[in-house]
Amino acid sequence: MTDSHDPGHGAGGHGGWSPLAGSAQAVVLDILVHGARPRTELAARLGLSGPSLTRITRPLLESGLLVERPALASPSGSGRPSIPLDLDPDAHHFVGLKLTRDRLFVVVTDQRGEVLSEHDEPLPDLAPGAVVAQLAVVVAAARARDDRVRAVGVTVGGQVVDRAHVRHAPFLGWDDVPLADLVGTATGLPVWVENDVRALTQAEHWFGEGRGLRSFALVTIGAGVGLGLVAAGEVIGGAHSSAGSVGHQRIVAPAPMPVHTPAAPPPAAPAPTCDLGHRDCAGAFLTVAAVESAAARVLGRPVAYDDLLALAVDGHEEARVVVDTAADVLGQLIAGVLNLLDPEVVLLSGEGVRLAVVGGAAVAAAIERGTHGAVPPPRLIVQEFRFDEWARGAAAVAIQMHALGR
Ligand SMILES: [Zn+2]
Repeated sequence: MTDSHDPGHGAGGHGGWSPLAGSAQAVVLDILVHGARPRTELAARLGLSGPSLTRITRPLLESGLLVERPALASPSGSGRPSIPLDLDPDAHHFVGLKLTRDRLFVVVTDQRGEVLSEHDEPLPDLAPGAVVAQLAVVVAAARARDDRVRAVGVTVGGQVVDRAHVRHAPFLGWDDVPLADLVGTATGLPVWVENDVRALTQAEHWFGEGRGLRSFALVTIGAGVGLGLVAAGEVIGGAHSSAGSVGHQRIVAPAPMPVHTPAAPPPAAPAPTCDLGHRDCAGAFLTVAAVESAAARVLGRPVAYDDLLALAVDGHEEARVVVDTAADVLGQLIAGVLNLLDPEVVLLSGEGVRLAVVGGAAVAAAIERGTHGAVPPPRLIVQEFRFDEWARGAAAVAIQMHALGR
């Protein structure tokens, strides 16, 4: 990482704003996540005296980051009204970019993660130089329309270190790409890069289904299987800055599925494996590609993921076996998360998430089997998949780093 991507460098020339430290960070984060609060309530929540809060918030008000809202009468009707402090969501805007193996998803958000505009486009050339050039064009276009864009977040599936460096991104075929430096140089803006699941976990924790929760788990199903965790109110980061490799978590391999046998001898039907050759990890059964591969073996013809789900809904027996087998593996993974963390909510997302609906009974049965009744059933939320939600995750990284400096 070079100096140009020290998070501190985003300050000066970009909206006159510097990353916050200590109590100021706590004040802004509380208002960012929970909305406007009366000064007295804010001071009490954060354990600050009134004068301390005044001292801390004065520069934030002067910079325009915080604003005062009309005073509320005190509940008892006596005493001085308390003036709510709020965050001006439009003081700064952010670009979020989510890279997949064939498309680029783009959002511009305000400071509260509200999506102001979105679009997606093909990603025809995955060479890092070509992708950086494409991102530079997209960011320049966003800035031409919106002069409040202050920073950029980029997310990829894979391992990202220091919020800057892509160590390994299998879907892009990248190893060791200093993406934040490259995009920062190409755009002239502060840029941060993050693992896509971890960024989505942050966005959901601040702005979405996980808002205000102390513990929260995100499980994603798609090109890979992902896990994001919030414990004690913080997104958990692993040693390698990835969101964990839950796709390689061992599971109790489901019973072999019947292989379709037409009149001719059946084609060789090797046992499913993940990309590392494991036969008993979640990824061998649960990714979109794994499910499509199982469908082809069982139904004897290629079947697209969504078509398979539709067949299962329509009562197609072989399709039902394939769906429920994958759903069972999903339930086993969720059971493992429950046993380890006991989160208040498990949010399911990703482009393959409809499996959890169509195979809902199998998911629930595997959860019950795997948790031994040790914990009450979690609140399970299936989030309808939208890529702009993931691009918003990328923007959340920029919001976090730019506004809070962490
Ligand atoms: Zn594996």
